[in-house]
Amino acid sequence: MKEENAPDSSLIIELPPRNDTETQTYKMYGFGPCALSFMGQEFNFPEGIYTSIFAQWLEDSLLSVVISIKALMEAPCARCLKTVSLEISDDLRYLYYLRSAKGDDSDEDEEEIKEFDDYMPVEVDYFGRVLDVMPQVSESVFALLPTKVLCKEDCKGLCPNCGKDLNEGECDCKNEDIDPRLDALRNFNFNQ
Ligand SMILES: [Zn+2]
Ligand SMILES: [Zn+2]
Repeated sequence: MKEENAPDSSLIIELPPRNDTETQTYKMYGFGPCALSFMGQEFNFPEGIYTSIFAQWLEDSLLSVVISIKALMEAPCARCLKTVSLEISDDLRYLYYLRSAKGDDSDEDEEEIKEFDDYMPVEVDYFGRVLDVMPQVSESVFALLPTKVLCKEDCKGLCPNCGKDLNEGECDCKNEDIDPRLDALRNFNFNQ
């Protein structure tokens, strides 16, 4: 997977016939080992990222696509920089409203689709049986990345002076007891 959606990266899934709300199509796809950078943090996927995609028509022009993501993720702890391994595993559902099916985008249609929180208008021609879900798979992976990686809730971090990992014991610096969360406050001028 690329860090940004390159225009040529696509993941095409086959859809069930439009009038068939019973059938579900299914596709498995694996991305090789890769790395992503998100919110200033590096995420490594040494075993790649695996996704399963399930598509089913709920109604004539409403398509449900469930994207299941599974991956082993490695990232440095935000406080002590130790590598943390995390299993990412979740399902995200997208609802696609097939706009072109009715031939127009009348207000009535808009009303209808607002009932769904996360619908996606999608342009597929009437007989179209395929859909590119790469943008949604990509988005799903990013949605599952933690905003802050910690090796443990109460990680003590590194001493800002000597760099010692304070989880392994105190160092000889004078300020050894400073909570890393207070670091930012130390230089803050309260009289501003
Ligand atoms: Zn840590
Ligand atoms: Zn120290």
